[in-house]
Amino acid sequence: MESSTRAGAGVRTRVRIPLTFADGYATAAEAVTFDGLSDGREHLALVLGEPDPRRVPLVRLHSECLTGDVFGSARCDCGPQLREAVERITDTGGVLLYLRQEGRDIGLYNKLDAYALQDSGLDTYQANTALGLPEDARDYTAAAQMLTALGISELDLLTNNPDKARQLDALGVGVRRTVRTGVHATPSNLRYLRAKADHTGHTIQIA
Ligand SMILES: [Zn+2]
Repeated sequence: MESSTRAGAGVRTRVRIPLTFADGYATAAEAVTFDGLSDGREHLALVLGEPDPRRVPLVRLHSECLTGDVFGSARCDCGPQLREAVERITDTGGVLLYLRQEGRDIGLYNKLDAYALQDSGLDTYQANTALGLPEDARDYTAAAQMLTALGISELDLLTNNPDKARQLDALGVGVRRTVRTGVHATPSNLRYLRAKADHTGHTIQIA
């Protein structure tokens, strides 16, 4: 067991996991679990590649998406985003935080309720509002604790979402620069991507 950080979270276990994705891409991660995370959830850090302590690591905060990450749902771009992030971080050296914040933290059932409303014409944000739920409930305090426990005080953030960089900065984790992710558009997720770009200033260029 490693000692706790000043923010109250510490590393619990480090264990090696070989990863193979559906398209055959393979890498290995050091999975890291934690004690003392602020929201008490089982968030996971995957250390990928060979991070060099003298270099600023590439980091992605990935919010869990059961339908996209596991089942390959084409209603969002989470699966391809996760796959891209794992390879890019492996190449550079860094960490992927897999955060248990399903559906921008409204939960799986609420997310599927929102999908049903979207099928009647609302966009992803309007649907949450219609259900009386926040558009985006995610808080990155636990993510900042995880990074601190891993000894990371400055990072390059792989994201198109300006809110993640803003929150990390406010939580005392320095974002040196943001690195944009690719756009993974399909006929099924185009409306979802447009809503993200229009509504929350995601830096996504959609042809
Ligand atoms: Zn998703």
